[in-house]
Amino acid sequence: MRISEGIHSQAEIPEGCSVLVVGAGMSGLGTALELSERGARDIVVVDPGPFTGFEHRSRTPNTVPLPDTPPWWRSASPHYAELPGVTGPLGGRSRCWHGVLLPVSRRVLERHWPNDTADRLLAEGPGSYRAVTEELLDWRRTCGDARPDRAPDDPREELRALWPDLSLEPVPQAGWSVDGPDGRLVWAYSPLMAWAHRGLARHAGLELPRVVSGPRAISVLVEAGSVRGVRLATPDGGIREVRADVVVLAAGTLENTRLCAQALAEAGDAVTRWPGLNDHVTHGYAVPLPSALAERWTRSDHRFLWSDHEEELNANLFMEVHAAGLAEPVLDLWWMAQQEEPFRDEVRFDPPDRTASGEDTAWAGQVTASFSPADEEEIRRRDEITGKLLEALDVGIAEERGLVDFDPAAKAALATGTAHHYVSRLGTADHEAGTVPLGRRLDFGGRSPSVGNLFVTGPATFPTAGAANPSLTILALAAHTAEAITGG
Ligand SMILES: Cc1cc2nc3c(=O)[nH]c(=O)nc-3n(C[C@H](O)[C@H](O)[C@H](O)COP(=O)(O)OP(=O)(O)OC[C@H]3O[C@@H](n4cnc5c(N)ncnc54)[C@H](O)[C@@H]3O)c2cc1C
Repeated sequence: MRISEGIHSQAEIPEGCSVLVVGAGMSGLGTALELSERGARDIVVVDPGPFTGFEHRSRTPNTVPLPDTPPWWRSASPHYAELPGVTGPLGGRSRCWHGVLLPVSRRVLERHWPNDTADRLLAEGPGSYRAVTEELLDWRRTCGDARPDRAPDDPREELRALWPDLSLEPVPQAGWSVDGPDGRLVWAYSPLMAWAHRGLARHAGLELPRVVSGPRAISVLVEAGSVRGVRLATPDGGIREVRADVVVLAAGTLENTRLCAQALAEAGDAVTRWPGLNDHVTHGYAVPLPSALAERWTRSDHRFLWSDHEEELNANLFMEVHAAGLAEPVLDLWWMAQQEEPFRDEVRFDPPDRTASGEDTAWAGQVTASFSPADEEEIRRRDEITGKLLEALDVGIAEERGLVDFDPAAKAALATGTAHHYVSRLGTADHEAGTVPLGRRLDFGGRSPSVGNLFVTGPATFPTAGAANPSLTILALAAHTAEAITGG
């Protein structure tokens, strides 16, 4: 049964295809579109997520139940409790991201990334930061800037008077925030919009890849050192094999790591420990805002600001005012920082005994993550800076120890009239990355040197993430992967 134009249910899983993309999130659909544009045909994208519409989901309630977290994943700490990315609606996290577009810094790229990838990201052509950013800001202008609640106010002059040394820029966003009755809503670009004819201008009229909703990839089929296809579990409890000449893993960092580990084992290279996992460290203060500033800032078109501290702190400072659904406006003043290297977090697998079961099943994966002493130290150092900013705002600080996310801190701040500190758990920034890095486990475009015609795409492939939010890089790398597959 066809769900909607170009989106299919499990009943339409094909016997075989030319390119099979595993995962229909930002990286999978992004890569599939880039492949189509380069003339590749017979592309199929599979994802267990139910189809819940084409548009950005923001905070609107989900009326369609999401698939359960697959039983093979667990976390060994309070971090990664939700196991980000292993389950979601069709479209993955591109259906709810906030559209922040920041590049990995030149310093990080030049030090840690392979030269060919860094060069392309920093150049001008397809797959460069410049090209992807311009295109997404164009998309925003076409779709978003006509919104009725726009106000050209800019609070930065008042803010400069408070914090003269801080450079504050509006956050470059492939989307925009609006106030809804229950809180702030964010609407942002998703590659899925191409299927609703509301995507990027260059995708208009493109022959779109086939997207199949329902099946979850269990393993990559490998024969004589090359991919042969993928084994899928279907929602009705069945198992299906799909032949494919090329397999692209785009199932989020955790599932990409598992599928890649299993494929390597099939090719004779069993690796059970995958180090390098890292997420951004997010911490800040929820601050009840003095009313004069609140009024102007809340009405402003520049409600979401950032300050670049990559060079000295490997972090970005963000500020956003939340007013909708709250008794008083609250300022969220938070850092997003890279975890300190060397990364100690890892994904570990327990391969099942195949001689006992006789079946090719999913490996059980465990995520182990914690802040290192260096992370704790950096959190303290950055908090001292934000503490000084709060002094300028003349608000008291109620120290909060332990792991508290923004929402509870915001509620506490409103209740007590004091700024509340929060440190979010790892895995909640949804920026988990780094287990299958380019230049070490993968060649240009995410090609595996160990398994023929196997590619990995998405943040799992980032050698080091820096402080930047990942999606701009995800979309740029989608073009590199398509280029590597089509031989461009
Ligand atoms: C609320 C929120 C706000 C965010 N804001 C920003 C932002 O402003 N800027 C930014 O850069 N980033 C942001 N992010 C992060 C960003 O959305 C993600 O990093 C990015 O979407 C990840 O893309 P992906 O394709 O790697 O993974 P996902 O989007 O998670 O897609 C993976 C897909 O694979 C599917 N899948 C999983 N396992 C399997 C399997 N075994 N077989 C088949 N399919 C499978 C999943 O169902 C999912 O659809 C935000 C995230 C969230 C949650």
